[in-house]
Amino acid sequence: MDAVAPIPQSTGQVTLGDVMAEARRLLEQAGIESAEQESLWIVEHVLRLPAHHVITDRERLLVSSELVAVRGLIERRVGREPLQYILGTQEFCGLEFAVNPAVLIPRPETELLVEYVTQRISSERPAIIVDVCTGSGCIAVSIARMRPHARVIATDLSTPSLTVARQNAARHGVGDSITWLEGDLLGPLAGQELEERVDVIVSNPPYIAEADWAALQPEVKLFEPRGALVAGPQGTELHERLLLEAVRYLAPGGAVIMEIGAGQARAMRRMVEQMPEYRFHRLVYDEAGLERVVIVERVGT
Ligand code: GLN
Repeated sequence: MDAVAPIPQSTGQVTLGDVMAEARRLLEQAGIESAEQESLWIVEHVLRLPAHHVITDRERLLVSSELVAVRGLIERRVGREPLQYILGTQEFCGLEFAVNPAVLIPRPETELLVEYVTQRISSERPAIIVDVCTGSGCIAVSIARMRPHARVIATDLSTPSLTVARQNAARHGVGDSITWLEGDLLGPLAGQELEERVDVIVSNPPYIAEADWAALQPEVKLFEPRGALVAGPQGTELHERLLLEAVRYLAPGGAVIMEIGAGQARAMRRMVEQMPEYRFHRLVYDEAGLERVVIVERVGT
């Protein structure tokens, strides 16, 4: 006899309204602030429903596979796994990016990096832009879409993160316009004949100081890749190494645009003052009023 797909079994009594209430209660008990909204997103995701259907179809009965799937995802969220890993996506610069625990979840403040890169590079210019520690590829992909004449190169130490980044580039139609290089900071640029040719180096490197790790929220500490977050005892170790390595690759007047953590701007200024090849161009604050981006320029010759 041919195998027959099982007929979905109705759970008999559990409605969409019931499962929403149950999910919300469990998330609230787990201390998740936006429990109602997150329950809605999880239910919409599992049932592939537009938002208003969850509200208007409250009496709809769930089949058992749907109930099992919703409960499974709620359980993961109760364990403080970030919603973005559970749903598999995060929006950044208006685009949906696939994410998994191999990559840091893109943060809204990181969009500032894209803004300041595109500000320096006019849309017709065939500039060379390097995104260092690309992670999910969100910066490189956003820039490649906004500046199609630029040559975008992205590097990362992690093989699984480059897999995610490549998928994101393909998903957004820029799979062929970004060069992906595996390795530490600018190490993989060696032998590419890019000396003194790069217009902008952009990076959101790890910048959490080791001592601050323990205080991070559980979503970050337990699930996001530690290697993408923690730099060393100071937090600014990677910025320093990147600036030192960037000297050979930047064109005169070229810039390094880096994300920093709150309270690191002073150390960054002091660091740049010790490097005669650079001038400190600008510090940018994010919407929360925190120091977030530094722009450092290669002194022209
Ligand atoms: N902004 C991130 C956080 O606070 C840190 C990102 C990074 O280290 N590059 O969790």
